[in-house]
Amino acid sequence: MSLIVQKFGGTSVSNIDRIRKVALIIKQEIDNGNMSVVVVSAMSGVTNNLVSLAKQLGAFEGDEEYDAIVSSGEQITAGLVAQSLKELGIRSRSFTAWQLPIVTDDSFGKANIKSINTYALKEYVKNGGVPVITGFQGVCDGARVTTFGRGGSDMTAVAISAALGAEICDIYTDVSGVFTADPMIVPNAKIINSIDYTDMLEMSYSGAKVLQSRAVEYAINNDVIMRVKSSFINGEGSIIGHFETKSVVGLALSDNLERISVFFDNEDHFNKIVEFFNENMIKFDISVKTDSYMTIFVNKDELHNITESLQYSGLVRKIEYLTRMNNEPQLSKITIIGHKTPELVEQVELTLQSVNIKARNISQFRTKVIVWVESCCDKIALNAIHNFCIINGND
Ligand code: ASP
Ligand code: MG
Repeated sequence: MSLIVQKFGGTSVSNIDRIRKVALIIKQEIDNGNMSVVVVSAMSGVTNNLVSLAKQLGAFEGDEEYDAIVSSGEQITAGLVAQSLKELGIRSRSFTAWQLPIVTDDSFGKANIKSINTYALKEYVKNGGVPVITGFQGVCDGARVTTFGRGGSDMTAVAISAALGAEICDIYTDVSGVFTADPMIVPNAKIINSIDYTDMLEMSYSGAKVLQSRAVEYAINNDVIMRVKSSFINGEGSIIGHFETKSVVGLALSDNLERISVFFDNEDHFNKIVEFFNENMIKFDISVKTDSYMTIFVNKDELHNITESLQYSGLVRKIEYLTRMNNEPQLSKITIIGHKTPELVEQVELTLQSVNIKARNISQFRTKVIVWVESCCDKIALNAIHNFCIINGND
């Protein structure tokens, strides 16, 4: 008899039919003789809507009311899932974060977990019940609700798994696992059966959307084995743990990047700007850095938000929109993750040449190679590199 944490994402609980399907998946685990602790996200679309409502009244990440507003979707799902389990004759109840509690610091919008009281969960499970916990949220000193950043119910699932010493943390989603590349763009992409923590983290950082990178970091630090599975179709999914990396594992694409220059007064402001990006989980690549400015690449969809917050922060003197000013093409970044051979860079260049694409830049790191191309041909480039590295094998 094992204790398993089962987390269900937004699309898995998007309506009552889907919630009933989730209840059957949980029942299967109970019928197999296991104990289940469930963590849920808000129904799909709900959090986006809450974020938009909050912003219309000027509540942003970092504001106390932002967390109070955007955390509310999970409470609805927790109640509905518990109710659907009861419909199947399974003892169940919902738990919000403050009811346990999951105690965090007071970094609103990106809180860090300080402790989890597992007493009520253990008692409930011992008596044959299935607790259903609201993901994404905690409570800080002063009894205010906090949240863990977008995608943060993965964080709750991993932290609950660690606190309970669960056998595995199953993350149910709408894809069958972690893929070698985004299957929407690369039709040949395959499921990765087992993937090492560090490669998974690199995939998440580089743009793979399947898991929150903070949650993967927490899993590494607390030795939590994760498994990504579909709640729509049966399958083995992908296991994330300690594995040896013998070849290229996967590719991630970060597309439509624009170049901006951010001017600042001193090094202290530069450090604060970088800290600001990291704290707000804003992805950026620095291409030039001097004493008074840096040139960075950011996603065009995030450009407005980023520059608005930067200006508001008082840390920057001026921002120049280089891509727009100079009419430059948007660029995309393809990250090749895993073990690389000495010939890889040259082979990637040849592969791109064969589809008439010239890489803007290729750089090598210990566990990855980064290839920059113009966004107009990034999908062709990604498919070509994927075919070469993954499908034809490259060890
Ligand atoms: N509902 C939250 C979000 O949409 C948390 C999550 O789904 O993991 O970001
Ligand atoms: Mg998610």
